[in-house]
Amino acid sequence: MKLNKRLGQHLLTDKTAISAITQAIAPALKQNICEIGPGLGAITLPVLKAAGAMHAIEIDQALSEELLKQCQGVGTLTLHQGDVLKFDFHRLAKPDRAIRLIGNLPYNISTPLLFHLLQFSEVISDMHFMLQKEVAERITAAPKASEYSRLSVIMQSHHKVENLFDIAPHMFSPPPKVTSCFIRIRPDPATLRKIRNRTLFDQLVKAAFQQRRKTIKNSLAKDVTEKELQRAGIDPRNRPQEISVQQYINLANLLSG
Ligand code: SAM
Repeated sequence: MKLNKRLGQHLLTDKTAISAITQAIAPALKQNICEIGPGLGAITLPVLKAAGAMHAIEIDQALSEELLKQCQGVGTLTLHQGDVLKFDFHRLAKPDRAIRLIGNLPYNISTPLLFHLLQFSEVISDMHFMLQKEVAERITAAPKASEYSRLSVIMQSHHKVENLFDIAPHMFSPPPKVTSCFIRIRPDPATLRKIRNRTLFDQLVKAAFQQRRKTIKNSLAKDVTEKELQRAGIDPRNRPQEISVQQYINLANLLSG
């Protein structure tokens, strides 16, 4: 089939990589699994075999039709054809079974997708994603590292994140230009509850990193006083990149009263 580069269609072909990914996901019967971008089913088929039934969201109509054919006799695949960035995951939530999200993500939308998924943290039990290594490193970066960014703070503020293993370009067809990384992300409801006002927290972190070269005192000058920064345990002369996730949470909680 003709693949579409604009949709990030780099299909996994390496059997060892597919088996390592399936083992890391550890699918089982009756789980509420949903795959993002199943393509021609490299991950879907072994997962469906173990889980018996699953959901998938795929934007490409031709790939969707071919995939449904491939899945016949393997298990029940409910395919939602459309854009995952517009998908409401509350539709798949079940009171007794949180959603397990999996996917070899299209790299061009991986960061906006991670932000889109934040609104569904309460109904997701875990996520196993293949990402561009650079994005995986941004998610797990510690303060002061050059990769430490808005994505690091937002993701680490209420998720536990593990980089599991790297996948080399030759394991895909066609090979992407970059190395990939398979990661596990688990929403952490206990830390989520520590953030009093999530909207305010998200806005604050966004504002801080919009001017990452300025000191935090200057980048947040419109909304936060020097005294408030100090009360949150933040040195006003620090740059946004030097401030820990906990300090951002302290500041947002202080401002939310
Ligand atoms: N899972 C397959 C594999 O590992 O071989 C394909 C992975 S490929 C990197 C990404 C898949 O995401 C493609 O099938 C592509 O059509 C699909 N895709 C791209 N953009 C999408 C979007 N906005 N919503 C849903 N699926 C999308």
